[in-house]
Parts: sequence; structure tokens; C-alpha cells
Amino acid sequence: MLDFAMADSSPSRAPSPFLETIVVGAGVAGLSCAGALKRAGREVLVLERAHGVGGRCATRRFDGQPVDFGPLFAHGHHPGFLQALREVDADPIRDWPRRVEGGGPPCQPGALEPTVRRIAFAQGMKAFPRHLAKGLEIHLETRVTAIRAVEGGFEVTAGEGAPLRCRDLVLALALEQSRRLLGTLEPFPQAAGLQALLGLFGSVPCLAVMAGYALDAPAPAWDVLYPEASEVLQLVALDSSKREAPRFRTFVAQARPKWSRQRLEAPLDQWGRELLDEAALHLGPWAAAPLWSYPHRWRYARLGPTSELAEPLRIDFPGGARLGLAGDVFSPGGGLQAAWLSGTRLAGRLTQEPS
Ligand SMILES: Cc1cc2nc3c(=O)[nH]c(=O)nc-3n(C[C@H](O)[C@H](O)[C@H](O)COP(=O)(O)OP(=O)(O)OC[C@H]3O[C@@H](n4cnc5c(N)ncnc54)[C@H](O)[C@@H]3O)c2cc1C
Repeated sequence: MLDFAMADSSPSRAPSPFLETIVVGAGVAGLSCAGALKRAGREVLVLERAHGVGGRCATRRFDGQPVDFGPLFAHGHHPGFLQALREVDADPIRDWPRRVEGGGPPCQPGALEPTVRRIAFAQGMKAFPRHLAKGLEIHLETRVTAIRAVEGGFEVTAGEGAPLRCRDLVLALALEQSRRLLGTLEPFPQAAGLQALLGLFGSVPCLAVMAGYALDAPAPAWDVLYPEASEVLQLVALDSSKREAPRFRTFVAQARPKWSRQRLEAPLDQWGRELLDEAALHLGPWAAAPLWSYPHRWRYARLGPTSELAEPLRIDFPGGARLGLAGDVFSPGGGLQAAWLSGTRLAGRLTQEPS
């Protein structure tokens, strides 16, 4: 993977020559799309606003110990997705979580069904997008602020540098982020219909807190607890049960969508404290006083109920330019599997000749 911030050394703001494909977003959908395009022989550049790849498939390290603060594990049944997970150069933890307690709903519908395969990685869930990113040209810390249709393609504005131009443009973002960027595109025949269609769906937020304790802190008898009665907690996970030789006992608490929405703009410390206090009701009073804790606000965490489309979208513009939309909403079921599938399927549609 080539990681470098977009250079701005050009004295002029003249647009670049046309690239074959630009993919905006280095989450699982964007990376699976870019990888499949590259394997099909296409020239592809990925633009990502963050300083690393993975998007919501996120892991943070504390004293070298990984903690997953997006998805705790991957789950699915699609053979291609399961094969992609098997190819990850990391230590798999199959069937995690093995010990599940509580009758509350899992993070994604169907995640714990017996026919569904589950997998986590000892190095953290970010091992998956890191693997997908191998060999791709990715410009990190490059936020796309506007897109424009031009003769034969698109112009993509990112940062202060000269606009980039491409024939095919892929938006592989959270639904709301795609809608926002599409709003910068001057009207095109399908624009109103597309915005109306995407407006039917929406993501839910999730406030999460990671917390570390001494190794002699009490260990629960579960890997993940889904409290049935709590209005606050969606789940509490014993993240350190995924780690080899952990330095800390670590927990991740994720809040329910409604509770998260009500506190989305409140200070992190405030709701982080409330989440820890709620977790302590299930773990014991000691859990309210961790060695360290970090709250994280996910504005667009998962898709809301019934938010799903069957396929990624490809819109053909006059003159041969194509706009593609991928992301977890563009394949049934949501989550990592849907994100991966949407990117792979969109790449398939883009390598077909224009209709
Ligand atoms: C707390 C939490 C728990 C979850 N639990 C599960 C679970 O148990 N199972 C499951 O399957 N899924 C789960 N998910 C959902 C799963 O993580 C997502 O569905 C999946 O990662 C979405 O991938 P994506 O590529 O579609 O989007 P993203 O991962 O959001 O990728 C979009 C990328 O685009 C970048 N970007 C955004 N705007 C711009 C811009 N203007 N310019 C450049 N780059 C931009 C972002 O930084 C990001 O990297 C969970 C998510 C969260 C947050």
C-alpha cells in the first residue's frame, strides 16, 4: 500500500490528466471495489480523508494492545466474503464470541445465527481492511469536498491541490456522506431520483467507550453481553478475550441508537462516564474506575432497520463517464459483508462495457 498525503506542489490548479477510476473512501466497500478493479487490470486511485484505512472497521492500540471499537467481529455466509476473510494475513479467532450472554438484540440482525460464520482477528478487526489495501494506491488525509461532471468524466476536488480527473468515479462512503457529496454535483438527469431514493434510508449513531483495567480485575463469564433490559447499553464486550498475552483486561461498551442520538452532540467525557457507570451495573462497581478509557462517537455507525438496497448503483453519464455507489447500504443485510459485497459487485459492473 502506498500511503501518502496528497502533494500540493503544483504551481497551477490545472486539473490532472484523466485517471481511469477514482474511489472515494477506503472503508471495506471502497477497498474491495478498488482491489477488484485493480485485479481486472484497471488503473485505480483511492482517496481517504482519515490518516488510515478501514473506516468503521476500526481498531485502536493501547500500549500495543489492540481494541476493536467498530465491529467486534465479522459474520456472514457469502463464500467470497468468507474467502476474503480467510486470506487475511493475521491470526483468526474463529467463532468469536464463543460465550454470549443476555437476550438483547445483537449488533447486526442474524449475527449470531448458527448458520452464520463468525471471525475476529487477534491483531484487531482492522487487519481485514489493511489486507484489502495491500498493493493499492491510496492518498490518505485527502478529503473530497466536491465532485463535478465534465466532458468524458468527473473532476474531484480534494484539499487545496489541483482537481483530479477520472472517467469512472466511485463513492464508497456512509450513506449520508454519499448524499452530501452527490449534492455538490451539478444537476444531472437522475439526480433528483437518486437523492430521493437514498433519502429513504438512514444510519443510526453509536456512542462507544473503550476501557482498560489491570489483569487481575474480575473476568466475566462471557465474551459479549447483550443486556436485555438496559435502555443505555447495546452490548459490553470483553475485548481482551481476543488477544494473545493481553497487558490489560479491556472492555468495549456500545450504546443503543436512541440513547446515542440523544447525546450525540454532548461532550464525550459526559456520556463516556454514563456508559461506564451503566457497564458497572453489569460488571461490578470496580468497572466504573478503569486505568484508562476512551469514548468514541460514531455519527453513522450502522444502517437503520430496513435500510438496504439489493445492488450497488452504476449511473452512466453522456460521453462514457460512470458514477458508482457502493457501501453497506448497497447490499442486503448491512455490515461488513454487505460493504465488501457492494464493492466487489460494483467493480464487476464497472468492468462491463458501457451500455
Ligand atoms: C460501533 C460499530 C459496531 C458495528 N458492528 C458491526 C457488526 O457487528 N457487524 C457488522 O457486520 N458490521 C458492524 N458495523 C458496521 C460496519 O462497520 C460497516 O457496515 C462497514 O464497516 C461499512 O463499510 P463501508 O466501507 O461501507 O463504510 P465506511 O467504513 O464508513 O467507509 C467509508 C470511508 O470513507 C471515508 N470518507 C468519508 N467521507 C469522505 C470524503 N469526503 N473524502 C474522502 N474519504 C471520505 C471515511 O473516512 C471512511 O474511511 C459496526 C459499526 C460500528 C461503528
